[in-house]
Amino acid sequence: MLHKPAPVPCVAAPPAEPEFQQALHEVESTLAPLFEKQPEYKKAFKVIQIPERLVQFRVPWENDNGEVEVNNGFRVQFNSALGPYKGGLRLHESVNLSILKFLGFEQIFKNALTGLQLGGGKGGSDFSPKQRSNGEIRRFCQSFMTELSKHIGQDTDVPAGDIGTTALEVGYMFGQYKRLRNEFTGILTGKALAWGGSLIRPEATGYGTVYYVVEMLKHMNETVKGKRTLVSGSGNVAQYAALKVIELGGTVHSLSDSRGSVINADGFTSDDVFEVQALKAKYGYLADWVKTKGDKYVYHAGARPWTLVDKVDIALPCATQNEVSGEEAKALLKAGCRVLAEGSNMGSTQEAIDVYESTLQTEKPLWYGPGKAANSGGVAVSGLEMAQNSARIQWSAADVDARLEDIMKECYRNCFEVGQKYGAGKGYPSLVTGANIAGFLKVADAMKAHGDWY
Ligand code: GLU
Repeated sequence: MLHKPAPVPCVAAPPAEPEFQQALHEVESTLAPLFEKQPEYKKAFKVIQIPERLVQFRVPWENDNGEVEVNNGFRVQFNSALGPYKGGLRLHESVNLSILKFLGFEQIFKNALTGLQLGGGKGGSDFSPKQRSNGEIRRFCQSFMTELSKHIGQDTDVPAGDIGTTALEVGYMFGQYKRLRNEFTGILTGKALAWGGSLIRPEATGYGTVYYVVEMLKHMNETVKGKRTLVSGSGNVAQYAALKVIELGGTVHSLSDSRGSVINADGFTSDDVFEVQALKAKYGYLADWVKTKGDKYVYHAGARPWTLVDKVDIALPCATQNEVSGEEAKALLKAGCRVLAEGSNMGSTQEAIDVYESTLQTEKPLWYGPGKAANSGGVAVSGLEMAQNSARIQWSAADVDARLEDIMKECYRNCFEVGQKYGAGKGYPSLVTGANIAGFLKVADAMKAHGDWY
């Protein structure tokens, strides 16, 4: 049974905020079975959907021609019930309040599912580092942090990377904070290893998504070995998801970027993925990379991967929000896809989620691992980076990787059990219902203890 309340605009998200509206309704619709059993939690939902604080500011910076340019800077401090606000900074031309509120809202539940002491937040700017010189990126980051530094702190709010914010940008922002405050503290995660970063942080989101998939497959008495996998995106998350699938014996048949997809019928090699990593570090495009490769690498301009391959076992959206439509979900189902787990945030449209969830009662469902659970490995290792910073020590790669794997297993178990308790599908419980209810309950109960609702 699907619980779909009518999409009435709610107080926290005026219709001008479509992405935030969508994220709110996705969560609200899956909370319906909880509200039926314990209606008092409706009060908590009313409170939780309004950010504790929104900071919006001007970011003036100088381009290489000596002219002033200006961008919007934002930080959404959404919820601090479980710990300091935590979440990435997105630097992309599409960034606006609707997108950051949706990301910040998702982050609350994701961070709760890691089991660590992390609140939820998100920030960024409509500045894009693509096609910008190193000097321009540095001057932008310094100006951005000049204002942001007034609102963050190791016990207040700890931003990190996201789309467009790599170790380069994190470095420039960290340097500016240190200059302004004369303080060497863990105010950002995703730092380079030499100055407070954590081993496995770059790999964590992609690896964690695949660890989550491993757990889903275990329930089907299956493994990743021999599985035909589609990956979208070609940034940090996609790269390490693809590498982990290949390491575990699966084959990866697609990668994509904002301009198109590359398909390889035989599957990419790890070296291919490392080449794409080098290409993307310079903000290059797959269309150019494919020209340096053989006939097996077929480029599809303007297309996403989901309909380009006839036989698929696993789909991993790892690019951006709303990257799987209802029609594409149906095509994946037809191609035999059994597991879809999001490395991206809100990778699937509501129509796509409805397709996945409608298969739960069938013998061969397309089982859905939502981003707020499946991609929580990134922020989880950010939490481990914060712990290492506080203790002024660095753990080994094997240690961090083992902790990441444990966190993903526990996150899956939590989604599975809570999904079984509240959802409809018993053999294959709804993991999105499980994720939303498990995350919401943890945060709502802490908020009640703090007197935020009663
Ligand atoms: N941007 C990542 C996310 O969406 C990581 C956030 C973090 O490490 O704080 O979860």
